[in-house]
Amino acid sequence: MCGIVGYIGGNEAAPILIKGLKKLEYRGYDSAGIAVYGDSINVVKTKGRLADLDEKVQSLGGVKGTMGIGHTRWATHGAPSDVNSHPHTSMNGRITVVHNGIIENYIQLKAELEKNGYVFASETDTEVVAQLFDYYYNGDMVDTLIKVIERIRGSYALAVMCTEKTDEIVAVRKDSPMLIGLGEGENYIASDIPAVLEYTKNYYLLNDNEIVVLKKDSVKILDMNKNEIKKDVYNVTWDISAAEKGGYDYFMLKEIMEQPKAIKDTIHPRIADGTIKLDDVKYTDEDIKNINRIHIIACGSAYHAGIVGKYVIEDFARIPVEVDLASEFRYRNPILNKNDVCIIISQSGETADTLAALREAKRQGIRILSIVNVVGSSIARESDDVLYTWAGPEIAVATTKGYSTQVALMYLIGLKFGQVRGYISDERVSELIGELDKLPEYIEKLIDLEKDIKVMAKEHHNSNDVFIIGRGIDYAASLEGSLKLKEISYIHSEAYAAGELKHGTISLIEDGTLVVAVATQDNLYEKLVSNVKEVKARGAYVIAIAKEGNTEIGEVADKVIYIPHVDDKFTASLNAIPMQLFAYYVAIERGCDVDKPRNLAKSVTVE
Ligand code: GLU
Repeated sequence: MCGIVGYIGGNEAAPILIKGLKKLEYRGYDSAGIAVYGDSINVVKTKGRLADLDEKVQSLGGVKGTMGIGHTRWATHGAPSDVNSHPHTSMNGRITVVHNGIIENYIQLKAELEKNGYVFASETDTEVVAQLFDYYYNGDMVDTLIKVIERIRGSYALAVMCTEKTDEIVAVRKDSPMLIGLGEGENYIASDIPAVLEYTKNYYLLNDNEIVVLKKDSVKILDMNKNEIKKDVYNVTWDISAAEKGGYDYFMLKEIMEQPKAIKDTIHPRIADGTIKLDDVKYTDEDIKNINRIHIIACGSAYHAGIVGKYVIEDFARIPVEVDLASEFRYRNPILNKNDVCIIISQSGETADTLAALREAKRQGIRILSIVNVVGSSIARESDDVLYTWAGPEIAVATTKGYSTQVALMYLIGLKFGQVRGYISDERVSELIGELDKLPEYIEKLIDLEKDIKVMAKEHHNSNDVFIIGRGIDYAASLEGSLKLKEISYIHSEAYAAGELKHGTISLIEDGTLVVAVATQDNLYEKLVSNVKEVKARGAYVIAIAKEGNTEIGEVADKVIYIPHVDDKFTASLNAIPMQLFAYYVAIERGCDVDKPRNLAKSVTVE
């Protein structure tokens, strides 16, 4: 899930590439590199962050040239090291390549090339592409790229330069994202919009195996038979400031603070006259009534949003819902029926596992409704219907507003389907819409607890293990709270269905073990109080999250964070806030790089 940029035009390429890569660093930060064509192709690359590359380039007095490609890596094949960093070059130096994805048959190809005298420098799969391109090179970049595409298997976004072609870059994508930024007398390649937003708001989106010939004054897109393809120009509606930190130390904190607005933007346009209008999807009432089963498919936090969705949709609409991890769904031979619907959730819309699952469901003829944040992303384009989460660009690797807006859409789907199917009355729907309306204001209130949560984080940042327990929707919220803590603070944490703890895991509770008890479901509240007592009896330190007014829990827990009173179905939106802030401040106390946690990347575009 690396980040790729490319530039060709009248300006110096290196600063543009490095600036662009900075905007893509969320996609991987094991190493970074650029290749710029001046008198010849100069490659500068290094293990580590973009800042290290920048320093290396400065120490060389810059790299001159007006055409180049760049890469920030999340290693899949070969350790993060200088030699495994991209760009990769063919043995004779003629071809230079950057790649995002995995070449699945690289071992066979490597053996074949070695037989033909090619010597490899790195352990990566990508180097095979550079050497193979060189092997097939016949003076025509497009012909050669087609031959290479026919030989490689797997996922790729590739940009290729050749020392014999000083005025063009060729590129292609399959199952990895790539867009083409359109300028005046200059053009760009990027894995994601922020990389080129400073220079252009106009771009082309690419479908699988569409070949791009990028020149200073032209962009040609061809299919595998070399027929030219006419493309619509997309226009970015948000501005660069939306992708900047805006005074916060980390994007994650900024994005936590943006949640009231993100939720408002996601919910409000879909409510009119006291009812829910999912105008962006083409479901008739008849379609909704005929749904037999829903399969929610996602990864990571989006999967947790899906679990919230299961509780909400099953209760509101009485449709059976299965929630699957995309990487499991794809390969377990799932049983799908004609009237089933798949809801695919992905912030980036490029998550490789999720995209593969979507394609499997589609292959079986199942209707796909996707919940995506990035407009025009692969998942959005391949779905039958899309509901966009209007969260704006999310940069921090650990999602906050992306997750919250996905959860908000689960509510809207549950309510809409429930109303159409006759399980919730119109009056009840309008009451619940009233509650949804208040969520942004309630979230603001919870954000105001920042100072208290910072103190709690200071007290507990040295914990070795943290358990987060809850029942029902609170269990789903616990899963997300636990993931947040793990991913950014590196503290071992587990989420447990509170009733399940005594079936094994309670043996791990020792004197002082931190347990966060989420107790915001009215009908399960007393049960949770008992579970808190059980862990207290084994020496745990308990921070509870409860609804305002439910003060009994204060007598058993060590600390209580109160959330405003909302319907049980909507509590996940509120519980998330203190848990996000807690994870954030624990990570700060531990000196972690919050926006770029180790071993992770934002958009996981490899399976
Ligand atoms: N497979 C390539 C590597 O390991 C690219 C990785 C990626 O796109 O994440 O260098």
